[in-house]
Amino acid sequence: MPSRKLPNIIITGTPGVGKTTHSQLLADLTPLEHFSINDIVKNKCCHTGFDEKFKSWIVDEDKLLDEIEGEVKQGGKIIDWHACDLFPESWIDLVVVLRTDNTVLFDRLTERNYDEEKVTENIDAEIMQVILEEARESYDAEIVIELRSDSAEDVDSNVERIKAWYEAWTKNNGGNETEAGDDESDQE
Ligand code: ADP
Repeated sequence: MPSRKLPNIIITGTPGVGKTTHSQLLADLTPLEHFSINDIVKNKCCHTGFDEKFKSWIVDEDKLLDEIEGEVKQGGKIIDWHACDLFPESWIDLVVVLRTDNTVLFDRLTERNYDEEKVTENIDAEIMQVILEEARESYDAEIVIELRSDSAEDVDSNVERIKAWYEAWTKNNGGNETEAGDDESDQE
């Protein structure tokens, strides 16, 4: 049983599936903290440069893990990142893999002004369920869940489901799930 009083949850999936949307909403409804790996990589310079072709930072994984280890081990983090296999199993209590219909995802990525190559690369990854396979290979099957993220209703029901899991976890692990739990808002 982990010594942390609050669980660590990874919310992962192909870019555009709704990781940030889910993470922010869950952080509003629970004491868990949204831990955007994108922001940490950028702000704490956990990278070896910027890939102009793919318009993304080239992550220095060792530096990133060193940077976040202390905070993540304390628990209570919603780790929002489009990969999951780099985080040690002992840090993680639940892995949520969000999945989106290809045509819906295509529209979201195009709206983001991703270039054609980057859109194609990400749609292919979603079709091949690359991140789901990565999660299944890296963690115990019982802590990996796959959730649809096609619509706003999906976001609401997914967040409710993860919140219920969080409440059960804290009860079973002797934690305290009050505080931000009362601060429910209608935002999506
Ligand atoms: P990610 O963090 O996975 O890249 P975001 O949370 O930034 O994805 O979402 C990308 C875009 O798609 C945002 O405009 C967001 O509002 C929208 N979006 C995400 N999930 C859903 C959903 N389930 N239904 C409708 N729109 C969504």
